[in-house]
Amino acid sequence: MKTVYSPRHRLHADNQELNAGVITPAFELPARVDFILQRIAAVGLGEVIEATRVDAVAAASKVHDAGYLQFMADFWRLWLAEGRSGPTMPYVWPARGQHDIRPEHVNGLMGYYSFDGGASFVEGTWEAVQSAVWSALGAAELIAGSERGAYALCRPPGHHAGSSTMGGYCFINNAAVAAQRFLDLGAKRVTILDVDYHHGNGTQEIFYRRRDVQMIDLHADTTVAYPFFSGRTDETGKGEGEGFTRNYPLPFGTSWETWGAALDDACRAIEAYGPDAVVVSLGLDTFEGDPISKFKLKREDYPKIGERIARLGRRTLFVQEGGYAVADIGHNAVGVLTGFEGRS
Ligand SMILES: [Zn+2]
Repeated sequence: MKTVYSPRHRLHADNQELNAGVITPAFELPARVDFILQRIAAVGLGEVIEATRVDAVAAASKVHDAGYLQFMADFWRLWLAEGRSGPTMPYVWPARGQHDIRPEHVNGLMGYYSFDGGASFVEGTWEAVQSAVWSALGAAELIAGSERGAYALCRPPGHHAGSSTMGGYCFINNAAVAAQRFLDLGAKRVTILDVDYHHGNGTQEIFYRRRDVQMIDLHADTTVAYPFFSGRTDETGKGEGEGFTRNYPLPFGTSWETWGAALDDACRAIEAYGPDAVVVSLGLDTFEGDPISKFKLKREDYPKIGERIARLGRRTLFVQEGGYAVADIGHNAVGVLTGFEGRS
């Protein structure tokens, strides 16, 4: 399987983050990509292709609000104009009883276009965000060609990014952009299967009223886990999209027996939908050693994920999302991919 990635992801690197209400050393680190690339080389997964620079904004504007994209493009200039220069994160949001109006000051704009304090900006963030889109689109092109599977090694990740909101390390929803690209290239139906530990709230919001993209998500029960405000079983889509969103909230401590059964059920729903392509939001934070998550999947479980997805018999694009057990992420991510290829 071929991998597409951009070394420009390194431009987005903050040394701290706001996690679970505490300022901590950053978990979402450039080293995550290094460990995955090392493992790809070690097992000989296949060619690693540097993503070609393309118009990320044009592609992203199919699933994101134009004002939101313009805000991110302008952010660093606005920040410098305020006399600031260091890393920053949002800190104020419109909530119940307030007006959802677009302010003018950069700090207000940051809150307006985010849903949490988990999307921090440094000088190179916007360039890195765009480079992740290049990777997603490059890998989608491989699938649109002759490849049965491809891997977009995206960083920063994307599944928490909604149509006009960043958060949870995510800015542009790489999986959503790729799914839309498949539709634009002629696919009639695309499934996004999100296996990250956290609910893909952004992806769900983007496609909630559509039937041409099926959104299926296995994640930690959001009555007790981030991102808290979405991901329940009664969220099934709206209007034309009714019935095309499906959530599998699972309890803390979930291990393969339960998780694998949920995946099997999800795969049957995908088979019933009959998509032309599947986009897998590939998070590895379901791992028992993950520092910010509470599932119990083991290293040997990851190939089984790939094997089950392969049995769908669909063209499949894997898009990198979360996973913060940095030294293990290479084994776990590549385990899914070799499982898909029937090599493990
Ligand atoms: Zn996650």
